[in-house]
Amino acid sequence: MFSRDPLLLLNPEVAEGSMAAEASKPADLTAQAEDSEDSDSSEDISGASEMDYLRNLFSRTLGIGTPEKVLDELSIEGISRFMLSEKCKNVVCMVGAGISTSAGIPDFRSPGSGLYSNLQKYNLPYPEAIFQIGYFKENPEPFFALARELFPGQFKPTICHYFIRLLKEKGLLLRCYSQNIDTLERVAGLTSDDLVEAHGTFHSSHCVDTFCRAEYSLSWMKEKIFSDLIPKCEKCNNLVKPDIVFFGESLPSRFFSAIKSDFPKVDLLIVMGTSLQVQPFASLVSKVSSKTPRLLINKELAGQGDPFFSVFGFGGGMDFDSEKAYRDVAWLGDCDDGCLALADFLGWKAELEELVKKEHAAIDAAAEAAKKKESKPGGSSSEESSAANASDEKANN
Ligand SMILES: [Zn+2]
Repeated sequence: MFSRDPLLLLNPEVAEGSMAAEASKPADLTAQAEDSEDSDSSEDISGASEMDYLRNLFSRTLGIGTPEKVLDELSIEGISRFMLSEKCKNVVCMVGAGISTSAGIPDFRSPGSGLYSNLQKYNLPYPEAIFQIGYFKENPEPFFALARELFPGQFKPTICHYFIRLLKEKGLLLRCYSQNIDTLERVAGLTSDDLVEAHGTFHSSHCVDTFCRAEYSLSWMKEKIFSDLIPKCEKCNNLVKPDIVFFGESLPSRFFSAIKSDFPKVDLLIVMGTSLQVQPFASLVSKVSSKTPRLLINKELAGQGDPFFSVFGFGGGMDFDSEKAYRDVAWLGDCDDGCLALADFLGWKAELEELVKKEHAAIDAAAEAAKKKESKPGGSSSEESSAANASDEKANN
């Protein structure tokens, strides 16, 4: 079932209709482990938090005892007070397409401008083929034509991305788990170590040949794509593909190993811009301890339990408003507005706005300088241009 998740990399909801049934099943991480290099990485989280989970489950379903409540109020104000307290040291963010829409990353679902409705020109046998590894190896052109339209560097990170950066600067960010492949987290200043890119990234590329696997940089890939060349390996002449996860490929092993080490430590989980429809990503919300507060900032409610599980009285999902609710908070609306509201309660709003202004100005200046360089006679376009490269360097720092 994992083989098709990757498609959702572009927008987790793309295939929602066709996979609703699958998506509502619990993540089968064990199955995934078998074809992952890191075979023990996907085991469930530590025994301690498993016990914690079971204790909480029984006490809640049997109505005995009450789970520890760490928020003084189920609101973002309550969340902000918790964040400013000694108790909150490790924040994990889980993010999806919704945090990038205000950057202008196309919403692939909307009719007319949607990804799938723009695919006719490529004469694909069926739309999903564009992200299928088997099809790609025979017919790489459609993917690279699309990649040109979506190539990172043409978009600026959003307020929400910079809010995550601010969490890092305040020493609170344990990790950001992203379903996005647009690299905007890196452009906003998060490093490889801060990130788990669950569906891969455009940031690096590899030769598709199993024995070669030579690595190529974002600027190398960019030059090929914008010169209308199909990227070929300089060592073996096989195709080179950005490291985004296609249908038919496993999720990065780092995803499974990071879950195992991070989730037992999480003091606060912030879920933004995702409707939690895609497994195994969606199941991460149930991997924190039973007392860990969970904040959802999204256009609509999400993650409220799994119909498949709830039949058996298993929760695991989020509970924002039942009488048993004790730790989950939903803030409905745009991710940028939600982050500003939270930043306001934290006393960080001016700092956040200043950071966005400063970073956007730097990206604009880099793009402007690159444009000038290109228009100069004798200026070479391969002389690494554009904001993408500026942000590239930043991400590598
Ligand atoms: Zn190669």
